[in-house]
Amino acid sequence: MDYQNILSSLHQQINTEPNPGKVAAYIPELDKVDPKYFGIGILTNQQEYFGEGDHEVSFSIQSCAKVFSLTMAYQHLDGELWKRVDVEPSGTPFNSLVQLEADKGIPRNPFINAGAIVVCDVLVSLFPNPKAALLDFVRDLSGDASIDYDQSVANSEAQTGFRNIALINFIRSFGNIHNNCNQVLDLYFNMCSLSMSCRQLAESCFYLANNGQNKNGKVILNRSKTKRVNAIMQTCGFYDEAGEFAYRVGLPGKSGVGGGIIAIHPEEYSMAVWSPPLNPKGNSYRGMRFLEAFTTRTNSSIF
Ligand code: GLU
Repeated sequence: MDYQNILSSLHQQINTEPNPGKVAAYIPELDKVDPKYFGIGILTNQQEYFGEGDHEVSFSIQSCAKVFSLTMAYQHLDGELWKRVDVEPSGTPFNSLVQLEADKGIPRNPFINAGAIVVCDVLVSLFPNPKAALLDFVRDLSGDASIDYDQSVANSEAQTGFRNIALINFIRSFGNIHNNCNQVLDLYFNMCSLSMSCRQLAESCFYLANNGQNKNGKVILNRSKTKRVNAIMQTCGFYDEAGEFAYRVGLPGKSGVGGGIIAIHPEEYSMAVWSPPLNPKGNSYRGMRFLEAFTTRTNSSIF
């Protein structure tokens, strides 16, 4: 497969199409990002890397990081994790509060904000310095020690994250937050601020394409857990557009409001796409377009 040629031609084609998306403005720092950025990186299971466009530029990975926090918690907790957070698609926006009342504070899945906040609470219980532990974990996944949090994004979100503040307090009222809310939110906002390029993201999530082993052959998750994380990405990775992503792209994936998307083809490749303007459901407009065209051209939908 001539991946480089395919990436280049699809990048060129999609870059000239109109882009009706809008950059996320509810986190003021994200609103400053140039909407024209467009990058793609793919790492095959033979460990060949191909990149196109702005694939070496770092951006705020936002909810793509929820895959890493879930993986870290799942390494330590096995099945008990699912007593705290479910694995059902929510069918509601990423920051919704409505289902929590009926579900008694158990978030529908670990990828909506409510679920990711509970996972952060688990990490705060597990690690004396959870922020440092998460950063080490992501650096180890990718083998790249230069990856870091973006303090201005984390601060920007801490100042305006009123819904997340509401969510954590609401969940706590049901007894499903065990630590200090400010400490948990500090981890959550920093996690979302992780600044990475498409290359670093594709490298970091390689273990999901490689039966749980990272680039250096280290076992991150066993096969069964790897399969399950991919299954949750497939069914819950795109807010209330998970069905559309499965239908159009056909890969497990996870998006973030910074305009990044990671996508996994188990046993073939991991990839990351970044274009900041989002569609009305909060997913990168061009990212979705690109991945749809890519899996069509390479005949690599998993379905
Ligand atoms: N930090 C964002 C928030 O909590 C993450 C949203 C996302 O990327 O889905 O609102």
